[in-house]
Amino acid sequence: MKKQVIKTTVIGSYPVQPDNMAFMKNYFDQTLDTSWEKNIERAVNDMLGAGIDIITDGQTRDPMIQLFTRKLDGCRVRGRAEVINKIGYGEPVTVEDQKYVRSLLTKDRKLKGVITGPYTLAKSCIDLYYSDEKQEAFDFASALKQEAELLQKHVDMLSMDEPFFSDSVPEYGKNLIKTVAQNISLPVALHVCGDTSKAIPDLIEMPVDILCLEFKGIPKLFDELKDYSFPQRICLGSVRSDDSRIESTEEIVAHIQKAISIFGDKIVQISPDCGQRMLSRKVAYQKLRNLVKAGEIINA
Ligand SMILES: [Zn+2]
Repeated sequence: MKKQVIKTTVIGSYPVQPDNMAFMKNYFDQTLDTSWEKNIERAVNDMLGAGIDIITDGQTRDPMIQLFTRKLDGCRVRGRAEVINKIGYGEPVTVEDQKYVRSLLTKDRKLKGVITGPYTLAKSCIDLYYSDEKQEAFDFASALKQEAELLQKHVDMLSMDEPFFSDSVPEYGKNLIKTVAQNISLPVALHVCGDTSKAIPDLIEMPVDILCLEFKGIPKLFDELKDYSFPQRICLGSVRSDDSRIESTEEIVAHIQKAISIFGDKIVQISPDCGQRMLSRKVAYQKLRNLVKAGEIINA
């Protein structure tokens, strides 16, 4: 039987914003040019340099909430994001960024479009219009569905990021995800970070292909998940995003081997636990580099 190849990928944000750039100026010898194209190039070049298989734009244009609420109808950003009218889809949000990333990639690399999930958007915005969180979340989902439909022409897979599911998944959570993900022809991943142990019965019901969870920072997830049978495959969080200690290749290999011993060929991707925005660029890069080296050892 042909051995399955585990792919490396990233989650959410990558640190190339001005603060990090000032810190990194000497290390990578780059100027403080902050055009969105330059920021994407920095993130993508780091991912490519580290050897990551499935690349993203690094969400360098804006943090995950502002990225969507700056463009979706009914929302505005005044420091925090606010909902001030009925949410709708007036214009593409991340499509230009994804097309630009694609132009930087060679054919051997895949591209993942990243969508901030509807529940997380609803939970993160100050609501000045709905007074009904469920309706607000479903209107976000309908708008995001249109973004997903446009994105699928330009990317190889999609990830929906729903960090707020770690606190609690609402009873309508599954339908919310279905609203965005159904009839999308690409593989769809759902990333939920933090301690998701209480949410696992809900997460394994989600109509997605891959669950991306924080297994490195929250190792008890191995025990919490191992007794369930579930249809999704796993993107294994394998280096921490909240700790600047750089995990050695050996440590990451041991972590992946543990996961394979429990979940077998369900482990199809490895990644950082979450977006790396809180790390310095140097540390983020080195973690990706060691992740790739560990993947190469496992795949060999
Ligand atoms: Zn996360």
